[in-house]
Amino acid sequence: MALMGQMMTMPLLISSLLKHAARHAGDTEIVSKRVEGDLHRYNWRAAELRARQLAQALARLGCAPGDRIATLAWNGYRHLEIYYGVSGSALVCHTINPRLFPEQIAWIANDAQDRVLCFDLNFLPLVEKLAEHLPSIKHYVLMTARAHMPAQTSLPGLLCYEELIEAEDGHYAWPEFDEQTASSICYTSGTTGHPKGAVYSHRSTVLHAFAAALPDALDCSARDVVMPVVPMFHVNAWGLPYACAMVGCKLVMPGPHMDGKSLYELFEGEGVTFSAGVPTIWLGLLTYVKANGLKFSSFKRTVIGGSACPPAMMATLIDEFGVDVIHAWGMTEMSPLGTAAKLNAAQLQLPQEEQRRLLAKQGRAIYGVDMNVIDDEGQVLPWDGVSAGNLVVRGPWVIDRYYGHAEAALITVAGEPGWFPTGDVATIDAQGFMQITDRSKDVIKSGGEWISSIDLENIAVAHPAVFEAAVIACAHPKWDERPLLVVVKKPDAELTAEQLLAFFEGRIAKWQIPDDVVFVTELPHTATGKLQKLKLREQFKAHRLAGF
Ligand code: AMP
Repeated sequence: MALMGQMMTMPLLISSLLKHAARHAGDTEIVSKRVEGDLHRYNWRAAELRARQLAQALARLGCAPGDRIATLAWNGYRHLEIYYGVSGSALVCHTINPRLFPEQIAWIANDAQDRVLCFDLNFLPLVEKLAEHLPSIKHYVLMTARAHMPAQTSLPGLLCYEELIEAEDGHYAWPEFDEQTASSICYTSGTTGHPKGAVYSHRSTVLHAFAAALPDALDCSARDVVMPVVPMFHVNAWGLPYACAMVGCKLVMPGPHMDGKSLYELFEGEGVTFSAGVPTIWLGLLTYVKANGLKFSSFKRTVIGGSACPPAMMATLIDEFGVDVIHAWGMTEMSPLGTAAKLNAAQLQLPQEEQRRLLAKQGRAIYGVDMNVIDDEGQVLPWDGVSAGNLVVRGPWVIDRYYGHAEAALITVAGEPGWFPTGDVATIDAQGFMQITDRSKDVIKSGGEWISSIDLENIAVAHPAVFEAAVIACAHPKWDERPLLVVVKKPDAELTAEQLLAFFEGRIAKWQIPDDVVFVTELPHTATGKLQKLKLREQFKAHRLAGF
């Protein structure tokens, strides 16, 4: 008979992260730019006390284990307290993306059967409008102090967050329960159909925080000052609120103020060393910094994900500003981290150009995540860096099924059950570096060959006159589909379609060069800052490619 281990059995609970931070990094600061406009400062010790008070307040409101507590809130200390106070007391934190259409917000809140809704001051008009469509919500909590409570509101029994906290004494011991208990829910920002919920557990969240903090992932330590720009309603801010508590670092949160100027002031004012966000955020910040001839004095590295980081953006951050870029890939269904592009010792000896080529990929799987690429028949493709196929993954922080779905979301790969099909198309090279070439529905299928829209977009945005670019498939009588390039020029830049297409020559195979260019003033983005290609495809459905 096997000899069993004789170590303590301690469930991996989210409350343990906050307890650790309060006890071992109690004085370390948490700084938040509030919706109200001012800066709020306190520390991990105070955060833990207030999270306990919140847990007491929610119990007093009648919340019981398993109840869903929703948030419509920016990155800030009260949202952090809700993360911990809710999950820590066996309730389930449901972060809702306020950038979704109101009907989608209502649909999501109803699907999750949320019982309480906590929201930031600037969402009051939205919540007032939505309330009649939210029958499951029993309590509305405005995340502010008494002084900012509205004199009048249509919301029944609107509660004040600070008053709820103040009424409690904090004498509360974090309960111990099964680590498989649900801790939070995020809905995928699907562009078609209804959003689907991913339900994380305490165990998956703590394990993900361990992996995220590792040097070959996000590399978080107590020496860092971390500013998650990625919102706390977008896959738990990529796990940073948990990883930062685990390592006990200073945390800076920008609230709703994510324009270049506000972010720059926080970077400099708070000595931020590490940040995280989608490429659009860095586009805004870099435009501001360059226009004003500024430099960063403490910013050392950033993780970029959510969409492919264009190599041109990576080069600007590294070469002009000395900021290392960690290109990472993941998704809501994966908590979200799957891969990170970090070089190993041998790769650091490669010529710089070769290193950059690797860093531009989405990177190696972090421990805990296994991956493969398969063809349409389910056969595993070679790891040769060129065979593109459907990316499948598995691991302890990857979903098994969507919320409310009876069926598992998994498939069998090469006789092995239990793989999650990501919907992404990718290659994996011999060194294990994965590169996303497209979402499967965005890939351009031309004459039986696949063209990566991301490759073409990366080339377009490397042109000095291009601000942003999207490539979509356009119907073609001979080739089925051909790439159409839709471009936003930089302000005052002069650029013709011919000049831009000439820029592609020598940078990609001739047959992959887009057939046409359309200049627009703005590109549509999803609620999480990704290019909304479905909308673009609809917009240009009737577009006739040059020559037809
Ligand atoms: P979400 O669930 O909203 O985080 O979206 C996940 C999807 O975003 C993935 O399936 C990818 O299609 C895309 N994505 C995330 N990170 C990257 C990246 N670094 N490069 C390219 N696509 C990415």
